[in-house]
This record gives sequence, C-alpha cells and structure tokens, in this order.
Amino acid sequence: VFEHVVRAPEDPILGVTVAYNKDSSPLKLNLGVGAYRTEEGKPLVLNVVRRAEQMLLNDSSRVKEYLPIVGLADFNKLSAKLILGADSPAIQENRVTTVQCLSGTGSLRVGGEFLARHYHQRTIYIPLPTWGNHPKVFTIAGLSVKTYRYYDPVTRGLNFQGLLEDLGSAPSGAIVLLHACAHNPTGVDPTPQQWEQIRQLIRSKALLPFFDSAYQGFASGNLDADAHSVRLFVADGGECFVAQSYAKNMGLYGERVGALSIVCKSADVASRVESQLKLVIRPMYSNPPIHGASIVATILKDRNMFQEWTIELKAMADRIINMRQQLFDALRSRGTPGDWSHIIKQIGMFTFTGLNSEQVAFITKEYHIYMTSDGRISMAGLSSRTVPHLADAIHAAVTR
Ligand code: PMP
Repeated sequence: VFEHVVRAPEDPILGVTVAYNKDSSPLKLNLGVGAYRTEEGKPLVLNVVRRAEQMLLNDSSRVKEYLPIVGLADFNKLSAKLILGADSPAIQENRVTTVQCLSGTGSLRVGGEFLARHYHQRTIYIPLPTWGNHPKVFTIAGLSVKTYRYYDPVTRGLNFQGLLEDLGSAPSGAIVLLHACAHNPTGVDPTPQQWEQIRQLIRSKALLPFFDSAYQGFASGNLDADAHSVRLFVADGGECFVAQSYAKNMGLYGERVGALSIVCKSADVASRVESQLKLVIRPMYSNPPIHGASIVATILKDRNMFQEWTIELKAMADRIINMRQQLFDALRSRGTPGDWSHIIKQIGMFTFTGLNSEQVAFITKEYHIYMTSDGRISMAGLSSRTVPHLADAIHAAVTR
C-alpha cells in the first residue's frame, strides 16, 4: 500500500552532514551544522552542565513522573527572566505566560499553532533569507508565510530600506518573525538605532512581533546585550512572542530544551492564553521532557552556577569571534580578491560568505569542506588548524 511513496529529499541543512559522513577523505571538514565544536573539533558539554547533571543524579528524591503540560514551573519562570530581564515589569505584572517546549523549533511550532487558532491575522512575515525550517514550521502550524527583504548581497549587510518598505506595506496586524540576535544564516543584525525604528514601525502598524531567540549569549558573549531587541519591544508595553532555545547557549542540543513566552496586555489575558496553549500542546506531545529543563533550572537558579555558565558561554562566543579574525587574516594574507570584512562584521555562529552554489560545490568536491549551498559556514566548526585549509579552498574557488 506504500508503493506510491516517493523518496523525500534530504533536509538541506542536516543533509550536509549526511554527505560529510560518506566522505572518506582525512581532510574533510563539516561547516554545515550549527553546533559548537572545540578547538580540537569535538562537541562540548559545558562543565556547569555536567555539574548540574551530577547534582540531579545525587538527589534521590527525584522521580520520573510526568511534568505538567506546560513543563517545569521553575524552568519557565527562570527562562522568562533570562530573556526579558530580572526586573521586567511585564513579569512583575504577571502578564507573561511561559511554556516549556521542545527547544526553539517546538516553541516556534506551538506559538505558530496558537496564533493560527486564536489570532485574527494568519500571515507571518519572515526575513529573506532565514533559517530554512521557519517557513515549514509556520506553514504546518497553519499560518500563511510571506517574506520581507532583509539581506543585501551587494553590501553583505542589512537591506534596511527594503525591510522598512516591506513591513510598512504588510497588512495591519500581520505577524513578523524577528531573529533576536545573530541572524541565521546571514550573521547580519540591525543596529540598536535600527531596532528602535523597526519597533516604531511594528507598533504603529499594530504588527505582532514574534522573536526567535536561538543564540542569547552565544552571539556577543553577553546575555543581556543579546536580549536587547526583545527587551526593547517588551518595554513599550505591547504584546510580543518569544521562542527561546538552550541548544546553543547551554550546549543542550539533543536534550531539546526551550520555552515559548507570550507577553500579554494583562495577567487575566495571559492566564487565558496559557489555558489555550495547553490545548495546543496536549494532543501534540502531551508534556515535555524533564531532564534538560531540570539542568537549565538548576543552573539558572544558583548564583554560582549561573556565573560559571556565563564564563563558559563567553569562552564559546570568544572562540567563534577569534575564528572570524583568523579566517579574515588568512584570506587577506593570500591576497584573495574581494572585500572579506563581512567575515569579522557578521555576528553569531555563521558567516554568510557570499560564495555561490557553484563555488560551494567546487569547494566540497576539491577540498572536502561541507557547507550549505547558500555559502553559509559555521564558524563554530572551524579551528586554528583548519582555517588555512578553508582559506585555500575559498581562494581557489574565487580565483578559478
Ligand atoms: N531558530 C534559529 C534561527 C536557529 O538557528 C535554530 C537552530 N539552528 C533554531 C531556531 C532551533 O533550534 P533548536 O530547535 O535546536 O533549538
């Protein structure tokens, strides 16, 4: 009965790793995945995470009962505080509902489905380009996806004029997806002044901001600085959605820990919204997993562990920033044609190199370096040892 089923294509991002795994060259390098690697090219479990896990293990009172539909209460409170700020009036006024979800993706999905059921506008505007899963997540949640201009390939920076025009002509009430910081895949973020202009436009048109915060602290090394955009929107008293992920900033990728916060106009609305979120979640996966959220809550509620986390987080961010400099210097020392300053200007895990799909294919074939076909490379996958190899490959690709 399944004879008619056609083979689906590999996921464009995860498929890069599938191809990488099949390559037997000792030179092979995977810059496709968005996961942190150490200078030795190894995945990293933070010391503070190991310590939290040990504490959880030693606590014999812990059981494996189901969490509530909305997840671990402590985790939810602490997550809202982390993104909105400890002194956020919205939290003090109980206007925020936070539910634990399956990492960033699950938070976007639950938020999207809630909007499809309860919001008068079904259109969500996502940046062009954006993380490849965004249109799929929101479409399946029941929203209609449109794009707004974001990246300018000529300047390799923000197309701010295009962004303002497109959001300016969006229908009133439309939902707008914003990357809180470290835009994926471009690494291009608005400046604080530009954020303020975006905020004014969004509020003046009664658009609904939906922040995707997948890199808080991972971009600059500073948790508060990376939450600036979200806090700017919450400070004006308006509504706002935020999807948080602990995949990158705590290295909890496979634990699938995240949260959706909805900032409402009043405590009463927030509690009704939460009651409806439960109806979205219950038939989807019933309730979220306990382990990862317990790790996060353990770290966030203990002053010393929190401090230890920020130090380890900054070390990851700094290593990535250092890789940017090294790659930039390596291209410059090779005299590679072109202006490569965007490598050091871009923010976060990725560099949008500007290499076209043909150049990417050449680099993969001749140098065994894997990246997505849009020329996005994960800086977290680079090390001092591999930078020269990548620089050689880029040099060869652009001088061919
Ligand atoms: N949003 C963005 C912009 C991302 O880059 C990612 C991870 N690549 C996610 C959301 C979701 O990641 P996760 O579901 O692993 O938290």
